[in-house]
Amino acid sequence: MKKLLVLIIIVVIPLILIFMKTPSFAKIENEIDKISELVTDEARITSYTTYGRFFNLEGEINKILPDLVLILKNKETEANYELILTETNHGTAFKTTNLINKGINLENIPIGNYILLLKSGNGDNTKYYTLKDESKMQDINYYTITKDNENREINLQFIKYKDKNYLSLEVKKVKLPSDVYDIVIDPGHGGRDVGANKNGHYESKINLEYALKLKESLEGLGLKVKLTREEDVSIPNYGDDSRVSIAYESKAKLLLSIHQNSAVYKVGNGGVEVYVPNHADTTFATNLAKNIVDNTSTIYSKNVSHKIGSGVYLRTFSEDDIQSMKKEADKKGYTYYEKATTDSTYYFIIRETGGVVTGAYVDERYDEKPWNTYYNSNQGLESYLLELGYINSTVNLNILLTEQDKYIEAITKTVKEYLEI
Ligand SMILES: [Zn+2]
Repeated sequence: MKKLLVLIIIVVIPLILIFMKTPSFAKIENEIDKISELVTDEARITSYTTYGRFFNLEGEINKILPDLVLILKNKETEANYELILTETNHGTAFKTTNLINKGINLENIPIGNYILLLKSGNGDNTKYYTLKDESKMQDINYYTITKDNENREINLQFIKYKDKNYLSLEVKKVKLPSDVYDIVIDPGHGGRDVGANKNGHYESKINLEYALKLKESLEGLGLKVKLTREEDVSIPNYGDDSRVSIAYESKAKLLLSIHQNSAVYKVGNGGVEVYVPNHADTTFATNLAKNIVDNTSTIYSKNVSHKIGSGVYLRTFSEDDIQSMKKEADKKGYTYYEKATTDSTYYFIIRETGGVVTGAYVDERYDEKPWNTYYNSNQGLESYLLELGYINSTVNLNILLTEQDKYIEAITKTVKEYLEI
């Protein structure tokens, strides 16, 4: 009896623990055995990330290979993904995207166990290349958007098998964990921070009303929605229980930050402005602004600064912004963090919730209480800031107060189409 107990402790329990850690490893081994004889070399991965629903990677291989593609392979299927290739001094640099919200849509990969490889040539000349991690980034754990009350979990991890390195991708059906959400809605401001105000109407309260209604409407589509605040309270932007932390911890794919605009000058009838992340496709923002204008009495904003399309705005740090941030750093005695450049998105809620993809950053004045503990995350949310209208325009304020249901309908429709629910 004692011997049996010892056997269980020494042999069985460690085995169970190993299998708990990588439950599908045996299945992946099976796939690799079939592929490994076709593998001729290895490529180095320098970055692998998700932004919203999109997975992307970057790397380099020591060969000139102008026909290189990325493939997702198992014994039944082989899906091809185009790569953007650049010849370098050392060989070929490759990446899956130039736009952060494009690339490999994780929602579209069927349940199964796969290996990601590079491929060149065709027919008898087909050659495969394995992927080795040189990024120092974390394994990726992703949950698909809730559709028909169902979710899948996707795990991407680098594994070593028979002295070769592989990037494995596992897709399985799961029940969504209680702390994982599809969408985050962030009602801007709150509590003492009332935001813009006009004749006793406070932006913080209007934002919350919109957010609560939008949550209910999106839940009607079967989506699981997290609010950064549910009451008229002030919450921090960074650190514990902050807007940024709540967003990351939700593992959501999309974030909408709701605001009302205001200006010191006359804005006529005001209008809608949707702020987008830098280096992103603007389909969602374009459709959102259009659906709001079509469905409500509001107009496209006539504000031309940072405008990149009808109702679509991209604001990045200006040279002046950076100079004043540097001056402040000098004055207060800390080193300016060089990652904030004219390439960085101006609004923190967009920049700081995208992790490495949007150049989220910390600087040393926040050493003890970090500015954003998730700044280095390789999984981020696709985030937009919505200025629904100008409350200093009497016409626009009236629309914002009386046509809330029409706005909600327009936003819901846009989300539904974009997420393909
Ligand atoms: Zn605001």
